[in-house]
Amino acid sequence: MANIWTERQFVGGALALDFANTVCFRADPMRRFDKLKDWNDLSDFVAAAGRHGGSGSAYRIACGAGAESMALAYHLELREAVDDLLRAAALGIAPPTGDLRRILRFHHDLIAGIPLRAGAHGLELGTAKPLPFAAAVTQSVLVIAHSEALIRLKVCPNCHWLFIDASRNATRVWCDMATCGNRAKAERHRRRRAAFHEPARAGMEV
Ligand SMILES: [Zn+2]
Repeated sequence: MANIWTERQFVGGALALDFANTVCFRADPMRRFDKLKDWNDLSDFVAAAGRHGGSGSAYRIACGAGAESMALAYHLELREAVDDLLRAAALGIAPPTGDLRRILRFHHDLIAGIPLRAGAHGLELGTAKPLPFAAAVTQSVLVIAHSEALIRLKVCPNCHWLFIDASRNATRVWCDMATCGNRAKAERHRRRRAAFHEPARAGMEV
């Protein structure tokens, strides 16, 4: 079944994070699932990122006929390097140098021919055409890696998505209060009810 990419997918606060978040429950091998099963999934995700991603810009993604699986593998390799690097930062462990080198290699190749401009967030990729999606992802990683966003990275305790906690006191816990936050609240409520009724039930059994 095709994914439905609503704005709920795009809560990370940066394109690189929303891309990493196409895998759910990463830290749980029993529940982990990858939403990008084929090239169509990736193309649909990229189109939705243009609509919901917050940057207000569309991205370009294409591959030659018959090269879909290779192009998908290329993007997934980038995604995994992005996740490894930024998840480590979010968890407070040393971000792996090898992942940064991989991302910089991608970036090096991807920005060839793209003009630069000086912007509010440092050097930006400036182009009248939509940016290649992968270049926008590597650029997004570099922006996060060299800003306060890096120390505001968090991992959602429910779905394991990455997000930037931009709240004033850095107190955000969930990727999205309307999904994971509500689920956690419902679960707490269920446990409280169970704990309340448990002694009575145990008493009846004695
Ligand atoms: Zn979540």
